[in-house]
Amino acid sequence: MGYELPEKLKNIKAYEPVSGEFRTHLDANESFLFLTEEILDEIGQAVKKIQYNRYPDPESRGVCRKYAELLGIRPEIVMAGNGSDELISLIMANFADPGDRVLVAAPDFSMYEFYALSCGLSPVILDKENLVLDKEALIEKAKETNSKIVIFSNPCNPSSLELSEEDVLEIAGRLDCLVVADEAYMDFSDSSIADRTEEYGNLIVLKTCSKAFGLAAIRLGFAVSNERLTGILKTVKSPYNVNSLTQTVGEIVLSHKEYLKRCRDKICKERDYLYQEIEKLQQAYPNVFTLYPTKTNFVFLKTDCGEKIFERMKAEKIAVRLMKGSLRICTGSREENNEMLAVLEDCLKEC
Ligand SMILES: *Cc1c(COP(=O)(O)O)cnc(C)c1O
Repeated sequence: MGYELPEKLKNIKAYEPVSGEFRTHLDANESFLFLTEEILDEIGQAVKKIQYNRYPDPESRGVCRKYAELLGIRPEIVMAGNGSDELISLIMANFADPGDRVLVAAPDFSMYEFYALSCGLSPVILDKENLVLDKEALIEKAKETNSKIVIFSNPCNPSSLELSEEDVLEIAGRLDCLVVADEAYMDFSDSSIADRTEEYGNLIVLKTCSKAFGLAAIRLGFAVSNERLTGILKTVKSPYNVNSLTQTVGEIVLSHKEYLKRCRDKICKERDYLYQEIEKLQQAYPNVFTLYPTKTNFVFLKTDCGEKIFERMKAEKIAVRLMKGSLRICTGSREENNEMLAVLEDCLKEC
């Protein structure tokens, strides 16, 4: 009865995925594509051969090698995680001391602040003006607050805007603290700095198979850094952090380079369709929302009608993400997009 929670847990808020029963899921930035029969057969064969009585390879070597090959980098600088979420949590737990400051921009991926708090760190928030991450402001704030970690997504979730390679590298170059660039959506764009990490002493790039690769179910992410930081990450992780099923499936899917490229192209094509159709709605219903350019698999709409649209979509069993009144809508298949667009247009008539 007398048990009292530690301070850091008293105000912690759970990550809240959109709840309820939906037929169309455009809220979690997942891929709408399924693995091919051919790849599924290959997986079926491979999972029969897994040694289920044994622990997995602690270093996930096979899947790291495949990922390194895909990116054209050395496998020694790649570490696998149980989703990039695990890697964010590992970084927060180990690359700062209790009470240290962590610089997070807002709006950005909500889990940065969550993990910082749960690890007993003090998040410092840099508010973005008009959703744009200002390089100079970020550097200045990191220095001024003596932050030990600076973390941001690039391209950004939820704004879907992007900083250039040069800008991100400049941030790493001008700061002495750890700089973490989360490239969860970089597979839809072409400005990855994963191949530049060895030139810096303080840069970690995070990647995931959950978005462009359509593997959210298996929980597989990667950290790319220099050898020193990769070594430390491998030392502090739990020994068998990526299970054998995930390693097996990951290794197979990552071997299918052409397939992955086709997926990316299909998703970008539907994303472009979604964007263009919403742009038409913007012209038809001016001043109701602002649409931001997109470098990801989702679009971001700033609007005062967000809540209304969200509730209406929910009633139609379509899940989209409501973020402080704005909407983040991920691309689905053409049918799913059309279904959502029809409801959106209906809502706009009443906004
Ligand atoms: C989806 C997402 C992640 C999480 O990826 P997992 O590998 O599925 O844990 C990390 N960062 C950002 C910005 C994301 O949007």
